[in-house]
Amino acid sequence: MTRPVTIVTGGSRGIGAATCVRLANEGHDIALGYVSDDAAAREVADAVRAAGARCVTVRGDTAQEADVERLFDTAAAELGPVSALVNNAGVTGPLGRLTETRTEDLRRVMDVNVVGYLLCCRRAARDMAAHGGGAIVNISSAAATLGSPGDYVHYAASKAATDAMTVGLSKELGPDNIRVNAVAPGIIDTDMHATMGDPGRPARAAANIPLGRPGEASEIAAAVAWLLSPESSYTTGAILRVSGGR
Ligand code: NAP
Repeated sequence: MTRPVTIVTGGSRGIGAATCVRLANEGHDIALGYVSDDAAAREVADAVRAAGARCVTVRGDTAQEADVERLFDTAAAELGPVSALVNNAGVTGPLGRLTETRTEDLRRVMDVNVVGYLLCCRRAARDMAAHGGGAIVNISSAAATLGSPGDYVHYAASKAATDAMTVGLSKELGPDNIRVNAVAPGIIDTDMHATMGDPGRPARAAANIPLGRPGEASEIAAAVAWLLSPESSYTTGAILRVSGGR
């Protein structure tokens, strides 16, 4: 049987890294995209190979069309036709009210989280349609519906765009046998919170989460793995919230 070839953007750390390892354990070969952390990408690639899967790492910025094309070209050349995409590489910029947010941070969030996701979806759709189908999972956020006042309304807006592209593409690509779904995580314990300037955020948020704790990256990876598996063969256009009830 052919092994699925899956591209995971932002696979070097956090949710993407956990997803690479989980999918490798479920029989996927992995093309791991990342933007700067070579050592982290190498470490995840080693873990993927230790699980018996093939892995290629590709450094590049998903907001740049040429880098996205190179990621998909490399995946196909090294591993074979791409059957799945996990659109995960995302940024928030610093925490704060919109009135204090710099234009360059707004633009970067939209470039990576919206344009980058669309560039990856577009190339995936072209390749998958040519090879009889596939599956896409977009990593959204509970922020898309909560709005994140005081933290990053612009990021929440970018994730609402993720939900809209998921619904629209599921309808556009269904006839090509391409399923498109999203996972909307709540607060997950990754580096992202330190990067946005508040490493203690997941622990503090626990009081407002019905299940009483932040989530683990592996709990998001499990949802992604299901959405890419034959078990979800009739699921498309779904936004699966994995947020501890938030
Ligand atoms: P993270 O720990 O900060 O990791 C981000 C990953 O994305 C890294 O692998 C990073 O590569 C890569 N990346 C960032 N910008 C990129 C770009 N322009 N091009 C290519 N790769 C890029 O983040 P995370 O918490 O795992 O978040 C992953 C996804 O989940 C994001 O879409 C985020 O919005 C979403 N999410 C996270 C949470 C949460 O609480 N953590 C909640 C809801 C949704 P390098 O290692 O090279 O820097």
